[in-house]
Amino acid sequence: SEERSLNFIEHIIEDDLKAGVKKDQLRFRFPPEPNGYLHIGHASSICLNFGLGNRYNAPVNLRFDDTNPTKEEQEYVDAIKRDVEWLGFEWDRECYASDYFQQLYDWAVTLIKKGKAYVDSQNSETIAEQKGSPTKPGTPSPYRDRSVAENLEIFEGMKNGEFEEGAHVLRAKIDMSSTNMLMRDPVMYRILNKAHHRTGNDWHIYPMYDWAHGESDYIEQVSHSLCTLEFLPHRELYDWFLDQVYDKNKVRSKQREFARRNLSHTVVSKRKLLRLVEEGVVSGWDDPRMPTISGLRRRGYTPDSIKKFADTIGIAKRENLIDVSLLEFCIREDLNKKANRVMAVLDPVKVIITNYPEGKEEWLDAENNPEEEVMTYRKVPFSREIYIEREDFKEEANRKFFRLTLGKEVRLKNAYIIKGESVVKDENGNITEIYCTYDEDSRSGSGTEASMRKVKGTLHWVSVAHAREVEVRIYDRLFTDPEPDGHEDKDFLEFINPESLKIVKGFAEPSLAESKPGEQFQFQRLGYFCVDKDATEENIVFNKTVGLRDTWAK
Ligand code: ATP
Ligand code: MG
Ligand code: MG
Repeated sequence: SEERSLNFIEHIIEDDLKAGVKKDQLRFRFPPEPNGYLHIGHASSICLNFGLGNRYNAPVNLRFDDTNPTKEEQEYVDAIKRDVEWLGFEWDRECYASDYFQQLYDWAVTLIKKGKAYVDSQNSETIAEQKGSPTKPGTPSPYRDRSVAENLEIFEGMKNGEFEEGAHVLRAKIDMSSTNMLMRDPVMYRILNKAHHRTGNDWHIYPMYDWAHGESDYIEQVSHSLCTLEFLPHRELYDWFLDQVYDKNKVRSKQREFARRNLSHTVVSKRKLLRLVEEGVVSGWDDPRMPTISGLRRRGYTPDSIKKFADTIGIAKRENLIDVSLLEFCIREDLNKKANRVMAVLDPVKVIITNYPEGKEEWLDAENNPEEEVMTYRKVPFSREIYIEREDFKEEANRKFFRLTLGKEVRLKNAYIIKGESVVKDENGNITEIYCTYDEDSRSGSGTEASMRKVKGTLHWVSVAHAREVEVRIYDRLFTDPEPDGHEDKDFLEFINPESLKIVKGFAEPSLAESKPGEQFQFQRLGYFCVDKDATEENIVFNKTVGLRDTWAK
């Protein structure tokens, strides 16, 4: 693999190694909350954490940050595991913050005993009001000096489900005048009388993110806990919580931040993606228009293309918007190497070759992929009637039109040179048939002089008698705006592209009849396509992954 310069997170790790951290103490984690499917933004975090694991030969945990039972589900856990695996990464341990509920509870009790946590029995609005502002110190809660015994008793009652939601919270007792608002006695636990997808009804209190996350890192002995920039102000609290439980013989986990990655013409937030699913804008989390890993997979993106994208953008200290055309570039490059070339016509018009014998068929050699080191071939049938794309013919055209016109020659890919002779139209003036003649000495690869004659255009085609009808789903960007969630006065759903899905019936060469879901092809001159999971033996369905070149009007 090619060497690149170290990114700033790797510099931090190198500095730590120089300062005495042992190489075998390095450990990383990828910590998704199972409240939705992973998206392309998560891919950056996955590639960063697992990439560090590879570079330093260090374990990487998959940790489910499952501390909020109101939004989390087993379905999401399963989908997340499938997606990380599909990307090609192997985690060391599969962990759940919920496995630490007892340990976290015991530590909270210790904090209460040390006078560092207390039960507040005010409602959340009052607590928020008392927080003050960055320039104005907060007001201490009237419960701040509750006795240890009373705190312990109520906290246990909270745990056992003796109270309504909102009746009490447990707060850390830190500093109500800190310039960091997060340090003003943050909430550690709230009451939620809800069943959890793993712990059932065992718990009636659930830890807040700040309390659970750093302690989970510490329990797993994660050395570097990498999160997105919005957590920078949380770092002080992360460290304060660790101070309360830290044993100096153990690895002290360290939070460091990198910039969230945003992709143009879409949204990368599970909450917003959930709205697209729930409001029926898309068919599900894996709709091929979704920026989810599962949507990209179904669309025809490969793990390599997604990893290439993540590596190309790298990591940064500041947020910015990455143009989706970079992602498209990455899949186009990858499929150019991997996908076999085939012929399909998506907007057909019939061509009749008048001097080709009726009833005759020929099976011609067609190369599968010019990028292959050792060329392989397949057979494609040719006959008197073929389909070509409607836009590949014009009755009269200027000198720059290198496709089929009357009186001029074009080559049919892997086949013969034909010349337009006449057309048949319906009562509305639409062309229904094009009559042509062919040069029987011009077959591609036959070595004849005629076969080597230079003609300007080459068209793809399929034989009418052998063609297989297929359904093709053609996608456009889901949003018309480059930053749909970047408008303060407008909801992102106002920017949905009404033409993001077009379904057409096309005709494909018969070799595609046996293709299976997930198989990928280049439809020559049209783009890259893959077989969708909806495909059946009767109805083959293709998704358009991406065009052959960047045609998006900017
Ligand atoms: P979302 O808003 O989509 O739910 P999140 O950050 O709340 O995002 P988590 O499940 O908590 O989602 O994310 C797991 C990890 O992935 C975290 O470390 C998070 O910082 C990182 N991550 C999430 N979104 C992005 C993104 N757009 N770019 C880079 N990293 C991200
Ligand atoms: Mg999160
Ligand atoms: Mg979130």
